[in-house]
Amino acid sequence: MERTGVKAFEESGAGKKTGTMQNGQADASAWNLRLVNASHPIPASYPIDITLLKNGQSVDSRIYRDLQDMMDAARNQGLSPLICSSYRTADKQKSLYEAKVSTCMGQGISRKEAEKQAAEWVAPPGTSEHELGLAVDIVAQSYQLLDKGQEETSEQKWLMKHCSEYGFILRYPTDKSEITGIGYEPWHYRYVGKEAAEEIMRRGICLEEYVQM
Ligand SMILES: [Zn+2]
Repeated sequence: MERTGVKAFEESGAGKKTGTMQNGQADASAWNLRLVNASHPIPASYPIDITLLKNGQSVDSRIYRDLQDMMDAARNQGLSPLICSSYRTADKQKSLYEAKVSTCMGQGISRKEAEKQAAEWVAPPGTSEHELGLAVDIVAQSYQLLDKGQEETSEQKWLMKHCSEYGFILRYPTDKSEITGIGYEPWHYRYVGKEAAEEIMRRGICLEEYVQM
């Protein structure tokens, strides 16, 4: 299955232009507002054109410029943000998920129970925004653990305050786990475009709430 390539991308008709609010309603079909979660899997034929970053990571080409601008702005403040995860193939997502399930099963619980627990931290293949190429996990160079302590770093404090200026949102905030189905992740940023990002962060809502308005 061809998941990358400029040709497939052009044929999809998806332009660079970001979709936003129309008559008070979010354009949920716009590429930048595409909702992906446990109940909204990625279509099998989803076309993606990726751009490789310097450190080996890659993202949807349409967010490359804004991501670079955000990283540069943070560095100009003397910060050292590090993108530790970005675009993932479905195969990569599958291996991450299976590894998490195994870890959970190591606690002596059933496979079914382990799958449930694992899904709160690693999305099952086909349901991760990382497979869209629109999500990046960013950590502080000086603190690279993916845990709650991440929010105490200067890098996260800056990113949470300024990400919307570059079209990104903190996708899984601490108080929205019941809606997103994902635990608090003070490192996972999702591109939604500047207008949507500004409104989502200002109102303290999550993407599910925004696209269902
Ligand atoms: Zn992530």
